[in-house]
Amino acid sequence: MDNKDRDREQDLLTLTHTGDEYNRYMNAVVPPIFMNSLHAYDSVEEYNSVDVFADDSFIYGRDGNPTVHLLERKIAELEHGSRAVVFSSGMAAFSAAVMATCKAGSHVICMKNTYVPAQRLFSTVLGPKFGMTVTYVDGTDLQEIEDAVQENTDLMILESPATYIFKVVDLKAIAEIAHRRGFKTYIDNSCLTPIFQKPLDLGIDIVMHTMSKFMGGHSDIIGGVLVSKDEELMRTVMTQERELFGG
Ligand SMILES: *Cc1c(COP(=O)(O)O)cnc(C)c1O
Repeated sequence: MDNKDRDREQDLLTLTHTGDEYNRYMNAVVPPIFMNSLHAYDSVEEYNSVDVFADDSFIYGRDGNPTVHLLERKIAELEHGSRAVVFSSGMAAFSAAVMATCKAGSHVICMKNTYVPAQRLFSTVLGPKFGMTVTYVDGTDLQEIEDAVQENTDLMILESPATYIFKVVDLKAIAEIAHRRGFKTYIDNSCLTPIFQKPLDLGIDIVMHTMSKFMGGHSDIIGGVLVSKDEELMRTVMTQERELFGG
């Protein structure tokens, strides 16, 4: 078996068996879908001591529930990340990733052919209101990326294969530039799903999926997810961007 076959076999096991904890759910083979908002505790002290990121414990539906957590575990495993955080849409996941890695005045490098509403977030909100600037690059020319880096560059936004034109870029080489020059890399991996491309293994910092498309598969759900190997970054994404912006 080569590495790709081994990945496929592991992916299949993840999809079918991760989260099989029959004794937790009265021995049900299929875990139930939790539809409540609040979880009750015996005391205020117990309630206050819950760390919704670290513990497999829950307080309120906006910061997670057992169904959501199971989905996050499966996606984190499929992407070879340590942690995934799901959102109510792909754009909620995208904007959370930008908020977690950038600040007012940040410069961002973005591939030209990324999902258009993602570009519009910069031109209509983050640029005018927060002074953020964007340099658009082709993505296939590594020197163009090196030349685009500024002192305040905090993030590079990638989509490979890219929307409509399916351009493919060298993720490993771009991740190497980013680590050397000190900015984070983000990829919209929606086109391939984690089954066909695992960007974290190539050095990319954050993977995003809209689950509304290939991952959902049937045009009947809207959802988004971020995955990373960086635990601290994902704690921020979960306890600040998702919890406080409410996506
Ligand atoms: C649809 C889409 C998004 C946005 O996802 P939503 O779930 O609709 O917010 C992001 N990236 C790509 C490539 C898409 O096709």
